[in-house]
Order: sequence, then C-alpha cells, then structure tokens
Amino acid sequence: MDISANKVVSFDYTLRNDEGEIIDTSDGAEPLLYLHGHGNIVPGLEKGMIGKKVGDHFSVEVSAEEGYGEYKEELKQTVSRAAFEGVDKIEPGMQFNAQSDIGPMTVMVTEVTEDKVTVDGNHPLAGKNLNFVVEVTDVREATAEEIEHGHVHGPGGHQH
Ligand code: ZN
Repeated sequence: MDISANKVVSFDYTLRNDEGEIIDTSDGAEPLLYLHGHGNIVPGLEKGMIGKKVGDHFSVEVSAEEGYGEYKEELKQTVSRAAFEGVDKIEPGMQFNAQSDIGPMTVMVTEVTEDKVTVDGNHPLAGKNLNFVVEVTDVREATAEEIEHGHVHGPGGHQH
C-alpha cells in the first residue's frame, strides 16, 4: 500500500541539522504515527512520504520554509523583568504562555539580565533545514472517524 491521502502511516525517523547533529529520533521509542494529507507533520516531510511503502528507508531534506518556518526576528522581544512579577526564578530555557497580536503563543526565555528578559516565540527549529532519515514501518487505511477528526486514533494516536 502506497502512502497517499487518508492513510495512517507509522515510521521511525532520525532528524539531523545541517551540522549532522541528531536533533530528534524515534530510536528507542515507539514509531511516530500520522494521518497523511492532514498537515499532521511538517509540509516538506509529508511531501517526501508520498508513494512510499512499508520497509522503504530513505532521506528527506526539508528546507526551513517547508519545515517549522523561517526565523522571525519580530517574535523575539526583550521585556522588563517586572513583566514576570510573581515568578521567583527566570532562567534561559524556561517556557511561558504569552498573549501576542496573533493570539496566545509559547515563548522561550533565551537571555536574562538583572532587569531585562529576552523571550523568543519562534519554534526552536524555525529557520533550520531538517534532514530526516525515515523508515516506514506500517501503512493502513484510516477509519472514517479518523479522517473526520483529522488525526490518528488508538495506540500512538489520540485516545478519546
Ligand atoms: Zn479524534
């Protein structure tokens, strides 16, 4: 069965950056499941899966644009530490939910000085090329309910 719209796909993957460092991998964990054609995974990877079958082992190079998007400088802001009133300790790497012009977003603290905090609302992988090595482990037809919901149900998917 070839991967196409409304197939449920299970795959193992390793994701590296352009420096060859492993950013993420399913090695040692369960394969990732997604419903093809519903934007469940980044667009460049979804495109690379089309027509593949169980047992296929291949690389997919995804540009930042077709991955988590370009890095947007305007999503990085330096604010007064007073904005974090009630938070005892602020350290780089901490995440907060913030209100923005485009709605709620998750921001990560990237720098802390005595009176200023720099937060970044970009996805940690924004602006980065993504180099995947993928092995397809299962392909099945989605159920009508999965297609209606736009995601996978059962083990490895949504439980509801
Ligand atoms: Zn559902």
